Amino acid sequence: MALFLGTAMVAAAVVIFIIQPVAKGIHASLERAEDELTETEARKRVALLALRDVEYDFLAGKLDENDYRSLKGELTAEALAALEADEKAREQVGSVGPEDVEAEIAAIRMGLHGEAGAGCPDCGFVNESGSRFCSACGHALQAQVSG
Ligand SMILES: [Zn+2]
Repeated sequence: MALFLGTAMVAAAVVIFIIQPVAKGIHASLERAEDELTETEARKRVALLALRDVEYDFLAGKLDENDYRSLKGELTAEALAALEADEKAREQVGSVGPEDVEAEIAAIRMGLHGEAGAGCPDCGFVNESGSRFCSACGHALQAQVSG
């Protein structure tokens, strides 16, 4: 029995030893400086990336329209909530709307390739750089010659 208790105590001590720095790290992350990704920024980014992926999957024909609409609705709501939480976290006054979500997605699309892709002259969809046709409407884009 004494041996069992001793083993259990050592195990508990090891667990506390392992968990302690992690718990401290979580606490520290809440007080981190602005140049690091905050919890609300991370949440916003995850939601926006998911939203962009859903859009690409739909355009690539991997999602049917019903799935796309319901997923996009859910993710847009999540992205909006995350944007609002982020704005509040930064103590910025002002409201956010769907246009802010669209702007953030456009920014992420551009960030993906380090440069802005070809914006469709017809519908405005920002395509991946080098695209010859618009992924959204099929409109022919100006060929981007590089090199
Ligand atoms: Zn287009």
